[in-house]
Amino acid sequence: MHAKNQMKLIFSALPENESFARIAVSAFTVQLNPTLDVLADIKTAVSEAVTNAIVHGYQGASGMIEIQAALSDDGWLSISVSDTGCGIPDIEQAMQPFFTTQPEKERSGMGFSVMQTFMDSLKVESKVGIGTTVRMKKKIVQE
Ligand code: ATP
Ligand code: MG
Repeated sequence: MHAKNQMKLIFSALPENESFARIAVSAFTVQLNPTLDVLADIKTAVSEAVTNAIVHGYQGASGMIEIQAALSDDGWLSISVSDTGCGIPDIEQAMQPFFTTQPEKERSGMGFSVMQTFMDSLKVESKVGIGTTVRMKKKIVQE
């Protein structure tokens, strides 16, 4: 992929930054004139990844989240959401629908499934004690 435009955003892992993060990625993507459906999908996927970094990665403790986004010449958006939190011991299991390590907090275990459904590709890299990076791609359908 040849990136024609890129951005990097680093912010505190706080719930009040969830909307900031999804709006920032959405604003970056708007230059390709995407449909509202495509923008909504991207916002939802970014929200899920950022929420996971806050509630699972850092488990409410302080930390930073980094988002990188790139737009390619041929209309693909690539996004990565990274934390340096606790990491995921079994990525395959974590990505199963309905798997959650926080059932008592009424989490449904559907975050990764939502990201998978709303984006064209999803890859998760994680190391226990090092952190997690979620990489997603979406072809931008233009208005
Ligand atoms: P929901 O997203 O429906 O509220 P959930 O967050 O538990 O529930 P997923 O988003 O699918 O469901 O994540 C599944 C599991 O993967 C989480 O319960 C958690 O154990 C683990 N996980 C996800 N993201 C991270 C992360 N950034 N750091 C550490 N663990 C993570
Ligand atoms: Mg989740």
